[in-house]
Parts: sequence; C-alpha cells; structure tokens
Amino acid sequence: MRIKNNLIDLKTSLPSHVALVAVSKTKPIDNLMEAYDAGQRIFGENKVQEMVEKYHHMPKDIQWHMIGHLQRNKVKYMAEFVDLIHGVDSLKLLSEINKQAQKHHRTINCLLQIKIAQEDSKFGMTPDDALSLLQSNALDSLNNITILGVMGMASFTANKRQIRSEFKTLKHCFDALKTICPALEIVSMGMSGDYPLAIECGSTMIRVGSGIFGARH
Ligand SMILES: *Cc1c(COP(=O)(O)O)cnc(C)c1O
Repeated sequence: MRIKNNLIDLKTSLPSHVALVAVSKTKPIDNLMEAYDAGQRIFGENKVQEMVEKYHHMPKDIQWHMIGHLQRNKVKYMAEFVDLIHGVDSLKLLSEINKQAQKHHRTINCLLQIKIAQEDSKFGMTPDDALSLLQSNALDSLNNITILGVMGMASFTANKRQIRSEFKTLKHCFDALKTICPALEIVSMGMSGDYPLAIECGSTMIRVGSGIFGARH
C-alpha cells in the first residue's frame, strides 16, 4: 500500500507534460508489481542484467528505460525490448545501439546524457559536443535510433542555487539542440530530492526511485 500511495500522491502533483519514470533498481518484483497495479507503466533500471530479469517477470506493456551508464557490450542484451536509453554519451555507443536495434528490426529511442554537474564522477557529453554531433552528418546513416532529447544529473549537493543553475544549463542545451532537431521533446532531469526544482527549470521527464519505493540498501 505504501508504494501505491506514494505513487498516487506523486502523480497527482505532477503537471500533465511531465512523464514519470519509476526507478526500481535493487527493488524486488513484488514492489514493481505494486507500482504496476497502481497504473505505473514506465520503469527505470541502471543495470542491464537486472532490467532483463525484471523484463521477463513483468507484464509486457511496460516501457523499460535504461538510466544508468551503459557499456557497449551490454546493449545486445536489451536491444529486443528497451524503450528509451537515457545515458548515451558517445557516437560509438549510438552506433552500437543502432546495430543491435537493426538486428531486431526496431528503432531504439535515445537521450544524450549531458554533463551538468561539477563532480567528476558524473558521465556525459558537453553541450558543445552534443551540438557538434547533431550538426554533423554522423547520424544520417543510423536509421534504427531516434534521439528524443537530453538527460542530466545535478550535483549531489544541498545547494539549491547550484542545482538550479545546472538544470538551467541542461534546459538551455536542449533549446539549442532543438533549433537543429525540432523533433526533440524530452528533458530528463529531476530525481526524488530535486524533481520539483527540475520541473520549474523545464524538465519533461523525472526519474524517481526512493520517493516511490523507499530507501535503497
Ligand atoms: C537511482 C537513480 C535515480 C533515482 O534516484 P532517487 O534519488 O532514488 O529518486 C535517478 N536517475 C538515475 C540516473 C539514477 O541512477
């Protein structure tokens, strides 16, 4: 009941243009099913192996999002079903996703991960790298991927002003990319601790784990 209530409270507070990814990493299937039964259909995982296992145990009308840092050699395990890959940070990775998607005769949606945090530990491209990539013709031959937008993670800090400034950087990056690719639609930013601020700054997709499922151990 706790998960269901958390989810319903969260969903009723969200503007209709903001999608909710329920981040279920480390959580058992019965927790995911409680969210599913409450109507949740988008789940996010950060490890390919774990996502594949859960995919096999869960109903088939779920959209699975890979939100973690992704190694190229793991793409093949989820290419059959993954709906959106948030953490794409290189052309090499995009090429591999395209290749694996092609094998399954499908298109895989991707977000470019942009490094907005000050910390060294967060992955991603610079806004300039992303701009150059979309301006180049490197993507012309990749017919089995669609880039739908950007994803970013703010610094792990209590400094609201810094987090706000990082979210704004991501939104500005998105706006610049959208002038080149008008079809872009997703700004994936905001987690349990900072999603209201992310929405204020232009998020269209939040990724909430502990706020729905409780703390991870
Ligand atoms: C774990 C994770 C989240 C969710 O974090 P919470 O603080 O539990 O909401 C969001 N995005 C990414 C990339 C994550 O790895």
